[in-house]
Amino acid sequence: MSHPVLIAAELKGLLEPDQLDGLDVTWLTADQPIRKGDWVAIVPLLSRWVGGTELKHLPKLRVVANCAVGYNNVDVVAAEMRKVIVTNTPDVLTDATADLTWTLILACARRLVEGIDLVRGGHWTGWHPEQLLGLELRGRTLGLFGAGRIGQAVGRRAVPFGLRIIYAARTPKPEFERDTGAARVDWSRLLGESDILSLHAPSTPETKGIINVEALARMKTGAILVNTARGDLIREEALGVALEQGRLGAAGLDVYADEPAIHPRLRAAPRTVLLPHIGSATHDTRRKMAAIAVANVQAVLRGEPPLTPVCR
Ligand code: NAP
Repeated sequence: MSHPVLIAAELKGLLEPDQLDGLDVTWLTADQPIRKGDWVAIVPLLSRWVGGTELKHLPKLRVVANCAVGYNNVDVVAAEMRKVIVTNTPDVLTDATADLTWTLILACARRLVEGIDLVRGGHWTGWHPEQLLGLELRGRTLGLFGAGRIGQAVGRRAVPFGLRIIYAARTPKPEFERDTGAARVDWSRLLGESDILSLHAPSTPETKGIINVEALARMKTGAILVNTARGDLIREEALGVALEQGRLGAAGLDVYADEPAIHPRLRAAPRTVLLPHIGSATHDTRRKMAAIAVANVQAVLRGEPPLTPVCR
């Protein structure tokens, strides 16, 4: 028997035919809304909202297999009420996202964009002892907001750079502390002591807008802010102003509150490294994400437990 499923069309090139065995796939492009129908599974991209209305349109739905680790695009409460399983794609994207976080940390600390612009623009007049001086990492403090899979992977990469590590999370991470010397601190100390503050918590009602005017004012002058988590953790206009005023050293961002739009004040602000949400964008990782999402669908449709549920 073939199961009718909806899969984001953008994933087609990342999936092998045998992964789709037994599925009657309708490929859904980003611009197509979810129509009413008898689909039993949906594999959406993180840019598609799957809420109460969408779930109502799909009365036979058994699983939303989100193709991302973050699932703030799915109304998990509405799904739970309808007994629809929600799954995500943890672990496989941890290294790729941690690597990209380090790309942003280093690009900010060593003023990569300004250097590239200088050379590309033909304005470079030669080596100068005070040209584009950046932040020496050794001995500085890296603050992690969120120390789950990705936060810890970023922290582990910080050890050979000689950074002191502090983190804020809901629960302590003794193994991480043992391996890296990291110390758990409260939000206030995290803001006040970090030379580099890197965000790795999900978007939730508690974390939304947590980097606001007040938080930015409590950060060290010249600190670097990096965000590869979710854009709505940051109030973009406030960040733009802090950069304009020179209070913040730099910001390295991969995610934005209203993608693909970026607040004009932030887009125009100095000392930013702005990437187009490519944290997990490696060939290997994107294939693995698509594979896990579809494997979750296959498991649920076989009547087995999903591989990586976020709610059931
Ligand atoms: P994870 O393993 O679930 O880690 C999340 C961490 O955030 C945990 O340490 C958790 O604390 C902490 N946390 C949650 N709410 C908090 C709060 N209110 N205050 C303080 N800490 C809080 O998730 P992950 O796999 O590392 O992924 C993290 C996020 O990265 C995802 O949610 C996703 O949005 C984002 N992401 C982005 C990209 C990209 O392309 N840029 C790629 C992958 C992931 P506890 O451990 O104590 O629960």
